[in-house]
Amino acid sequence: MSRSFDLVVIGAGPAGYIAAIRAAQHGMSVACIDEWRNRDGNYAFGGTCLNAGCIPSKALLESSELYHRAQHEFGKHGIVVGDVGMDIAAMQKRKTAIVRQLTGGIGGLLKANKVEGLVGHGKLLAGKRVEFTPVEGDAEIIEAKHVILASGSVPIELPFAKFDGETIIDSWDALELDAVPERLGVIGAGVIGLELGSVWRRLGSEVTILEAMDDLLYMADRDIASAAARDFKKQGLDIRLGAKVSAATVDAGVVRVDYEDKSGAQSIEVDRLIVAVGRRPYTGNLLADDAGIQLDERGFIVVDDECRTRVKGVYAVGDCVRGPMLAHKGSEEGVMVADLIAGEVAEVNYDVVPSVVYTAPEIAWVGKTETEVKQSGRAYKTGSFPFAASGRAKAMEQTTGLVKVISAEDDDEILGVHIVGPMAGELISEAVLAMEFSASTEDIQRTIHAHPSLAEAVHEAALAADKRALNYVNR
Ligand code: FAD
Ligand code: AMP
Repeated sequence: MSRSFDLVVIGAGPAGYIAAIRAAQHGMSVACIDEWRNRDGNYAFGGTCLNAGCIPSKALLESSELYHRAQHEFGKHGIVVGDVGMDIAAMQKRKTAIVRQLTGGIGGLLKANKVEGLVGHGKLLAGKRVEFTPVEGDAEIIEAKHVILASGSVPIELPFAKFDGETIIDSWDALELDAVPERLGVIGAGVIGLELGSVWRRLGSEVTILEAMDDLLYMADRDIASAAARDFKKQGLDIRLGAKVSAATVDAGVVRVDYEDKSGAQSIEVDRLIVAVGRRPYTGNLLADDAGIQLDERGFIVVDDECRTRVKGVYAVGDCVRGPMLAHKGSEEGVMVADLIAGEVAEVNYDVVPSVVYTAPEIAWVGKTETEVKQSGRAYKTGSFPFAASGRAKAMEQTTGLVKVISAEDDDEILGVHIVGPMAGELISEAVLAMEFSASTEDIQRTIHAHPSLAEAVHEAALAADKRALNYVNR
């Protein structure tokens, strides 16, 4: 007799495992299937985010940032450290330990919530049945009242720069390097390209990032992107915009990268090339032909605003569906779907999904950019506050960047908050909460912010929107 569950989730990344836990908290019987295998041969829950994305990248960003600060900043604090050395093996070991702890933690969380964690491949068949093939043993058919597809995404491969795992590599390989490449090329100055480029630049690589678009971080507010660009330049990141790569050839361990820019055909030579041109939804062997699930022209599983596919009882969440490819977006979709299945009212507010780039300085924003607000035709006001005027930022020796608040003229609604500077990824939470609660700019102005804190910069930027900044000359 086949096993049956109220819910079967395929994929245990941040979208899938969160959905599974939330559903179990509602009292459902839940199985969560995942086949992720790490380079050491071990299977692990957590998906891209924990194993090859958010977490390992942040671990290396932190280590490389500390290395950089020890070399370039400690002296200003009067700390004399002498020669600062680097032990890449130890750095990587620390990263791997963090990943192991967290992925092991998910196994523990699933167990504690009585979710059956199944290691192997899941495939949706017709009639809400799931074929589960364990890593060892025979496939079984599992019956499900509901199914959530959370199969995630994989790096996009360029036909003219195929991954070889050695010299032309994807973001996962770039997090596993055991030596600092002398010359590192990166195709794509998106979030992943900038973060990985920053890690290896700080550790000593000569980094060239080739970006096809003419604007850096086209999705960010222009004031924020240009402030960030200035900092990246100071750090020695060579970002070439309007540079469309057309070929990459490996010869004796050296990659020659051909690209085209305004002045014509160009080329560079690097020792490693990271291809970071985005990710595509992954649905490999996920759906039987008669499963009834529709994919769009880019391969995303088609869902409505509540993540329903066109098969009743089957949902899809996370990177395999439309919307920003972000862990927290996927997790919130997972929570929403579990709540909907449990009969509750639930929604995801896609207008207030924060974006963070974990470079130094960090970049974070929520809501609309000034260009988008302008295009909407709504009258607006803006207020900015530079970290150079923040006491806390000065004490931290992190005075680069600013906070910018964009608000509606008519009813004071906060339309967007944009930050480049220290801890921007933490500071943005206040803005997200304010926008989620439909707070006005005056609400932030009248909220007490601890002194001295970086958050005061958000407070002052909100005040500046009405020319009431108290610690900066209003313009
Ligand atoms: P995934 O995390 O990709 O998980 C999907 C899981 O499903 C995988 O474990 C896969 O093995 C499994 N699976 C797929 N098909 C099957 C099947 N048929 N049977 C069994 N198992 C299956 N996002 C952020 O929000 N913040 C960041 O700082 C950030 N940094 C990143 C850095 C890098 C280098 C990368 C690559 C990504 C980063 N992301 C970040 C993006 C983030 O990792 C993804 O948005 C997130 O992991 C998507 O979650 P998901 O659950 O939809 O999919
Ligand atoms: P993201 O989708 O945010 O990860 O960013 C990927 C980036 O890669 C985008 O900014 C693209 O413009 C860029 N990109 C894609 N293809 C190429 C190419 N052939 N040459 C240079 N940049 C590219």
